[in-house]
Amino acid sequence: MEGDSLLGIEKKLVREVDNRRDDLVELTQALIRIPTLNPPGNNYRDICEFLQTRLKRSGFDCELLRAKGAFADSDEYPRYNLIAHKEGLESGDCVHFNSHVDVVRVGSGWTFDPFAGTVKDNKIYGRGACDMKGGLATSIIAVEAFLACHAPSFPGAIEISATADEESGGFSGVAWLAERGWFSPQRVQHVIIPEPLHKNRICLGHRGVWWAELETKGRMAHGSMPFLGDCAVRHMSAILEEIEKTLIPKLATKNTSMPVVPPQARQSTLNINSIHGGASEFDKDESGFPSACVPDRCRIVIDRRYLVEETLEEVKSEFVEMLNDVASRRAGLKFEMRDLFSVQPTLTDKKAPVVVQVKNAIQKVLGADAEFVVSPGTYDQKHIDRIGQLKNCIAYGPGLLDLAHKPDEWIAIDDMLDSAKVMSLSLCHLLSSDTTRHAPISTNGV
Ligand SMILES: [Zn+2]
Repeated sequence: MEGDSLLGIEKKLVREVDNRRDDLVELTQALIRIPTLNPPGNNYRDICEFLQTRLKRSGFDCELLRAKGAFADSDEYPRYNLIAHKEGLESGDCVHFNSHVDVVRVGSGWTFDPFAGTVKDNKIYGRGACDMKGGLATSIIAVEAFLACHAPSFPGAIEISATADEESGGFSGVAWLAERGWFSPQRVQHVIIPEPLHKNRICLGHRGVWWAELETKGRMAHGSMPFLGDCAVRHMSAILEEIEKTLIPKLATKNTSMPVVPPQARQSTLNINSIHGGASEFDKDESGFPSACVPDRCRIVIDRRYLVEETLEEVKSEFVEMLNDVASRRAGLKFEMRDLFSVQPTLTDKKAPVVVQVKNAIQKVLGADAEFVVSPGTYDQKHIDRIGQLKNCIAYGPGLLDLAHKPDEWIAIDDMLDSAKVMSLSLCHLLSSDTTRHAPISTNGV
């Protein structure tokens, strides 16, 4: 708990956050009650306007930006994003809090109304409570508590963004904004993404991703005379056997220095996302059976997660070499590969200013050392890093990662309050640090 080591201003910040407990709960509930399901991307405009009203009241200039024409944007489901900016009186760094507003589908197994924001036993329940409307509300309360102590005479600038489509890749959200310069190191110097990694953890980045489609080729013939054709499914099964016997055990030996959580993800992994071969089971004739054919095609989609110690080229050639090896031993095996999607691994330096300040704030507020982690999957940091070229970025927010996307998702109110204190203290120290805006950030020094 907060000890005597807090400075006067820090004690004031902590008090201001504590005074906002009811406000934090109500804000989280209000956000949960706007069902921003993605797909299809419902109510983005409503949630942005709701936040705009609130943040204008707190003195922010707001821009509502539609990613017109971007991936998944349509008149029926427009992709709206909000950027709220508050300039201090003196020059200095800009600290940016970025949250996605979309939530995944409800699914089955709920005992609470997923869009009611019910409070029970000091927890708030609802779809998005943990991932990540609770984190968004926490960052707003942290900033408002800071402003109550400092406004208007703080140096630098503060930004809060609410963005679309993180759950489907962020292409109409953070990626679209980053392509337009909103996350360039010239205008933003520090980014905190309040994803639910838990109040004592700093997430430095994520592993890399390579998605690809692999198709084996065969030759059709009547199913009663398979010897006249060439079965694409059997070719695929030879490849799957090789994946099972040699590739997966090999990947399990590739360990990383990245502190990925959970620890089982601290290595290279491969998932087979889907498989399909031959005629569809639903493609039936009047007899109720699909026609008897030797399949001429079989397809799988692979999801390979790779480490900062590997390159995408190595990852791809390792897979293709394995395929060539199987093909050299198996007559008639022909295949085609198609890249679907890739993301470079991201790892922010532990000495980056935002890491150092959040780490110090965790120590002060929780009286415990921060734990450094890396996410097994990706989130919007990838776009800030790769498109924005902004390296001084972390995920830090309340909520338990394991609860994300589950039925009866919840967030603990006390965890949100603790995280808001950490964010508020971090903001205070980042804005009064010596780094200068309009100059590129070095991640090697504080
Ligand atoms: Zn999320």
